[in-house]
Amino acid sequence: MYRQMTKLDIADKASQFGIGLVGFTSAGGSGSEWARTTVILAAQLMLPIVETCPSIWGLEHEKTVKILLSKAVNRVCAMLNANGYKAERAVMNADELADAASRAKLGSRGKNGRILTKKYGPRVLMDSLLSAAEFSYDDREDEELCLGCSNCLNACPAAAGKYEDSTCAAYGETLAKDFKNPCGKCLRVCPVGEDRFLYDSFNFQKYFDEDNFPVRNPGAKIYGPWAHVRNYGSYPHAAISPEFEREKEGRLI
Ligand code: SF4
Ligand code: SF4
Repeated sequence: MYRQMTKLDIADKASQFGIGLVGFTSAGGSGSEWARTTVILAAQLMLPIVETCPSIWGLEHEKTVKILLSKAVNRVCAMLNANGYKAERAVMNADELADAASRAKLGSRGKNGRILTKKYGPRVLMDSLLSAAEFSYDDREDEELCLGCSNCLNACPAAAGKYEDSTCAAYGETLAKDFKNPCGKCLRVCPVGEDRFLYDSFNFQKYFDEDNFPVRNPGAKIYGPWAHVRNYGSYPHAAISPEFEREKEGRLI
């Protein structure tokens, strides 16, 4: 028997897949004739893993979170269908998704264009779906979360002006050849997010000092865990160290 779906039903279903944030906004402009609501799902990228990026651990973590998001979208659509509502995965590029997330009051845009959330700062991945069910939209005030510190821009190894612009994407492709995309440098240096309190992680200089080392990690103890992670599964620092680029030529993975 059909029943009316609530926002709580959607959030409950999504939470079964570890999706911590769900937002609702009008589906106007989606191009769909029947869609009334765009539902945005956002899942956490864990700070300690993001801190190791670029690393294969970061890569695998991102893959896992994308699979969880995809499953959650699928199951929420199935639940809506089972209760008599049309639903389907929304097709949006990263910019459109970030705009929809802002409208759904999941967060605000940071200085490099990345969506920032109160809970996890920029350390989230998102997916979305269209629903014929109509929900009330969040009426919270727009909250500006970006502190304007410019850490995200200063930490960018590619000097990209915007997250996921063509420069950022090209840098990501270079890293992918070494099995250690995504870059994630702008994600780890952002002070926004309650996850920073959970992990008591406020030593931002640590990030910049590491990036400023002229060659590969010189073995400083403070970087031990990150260096350890990066020693497995991907070529260390090939994208930013030309001499290592040459060195790896003779290596097998
Ligand atoms: S790093 Fe600073 S400037 Fe960049 S998005 Fe975060 S708070 Fe804003
Ligand atoms: S992911 Fe890396 S390359 Fe892309 S904007 Fe962030 S720091 Fe720059």
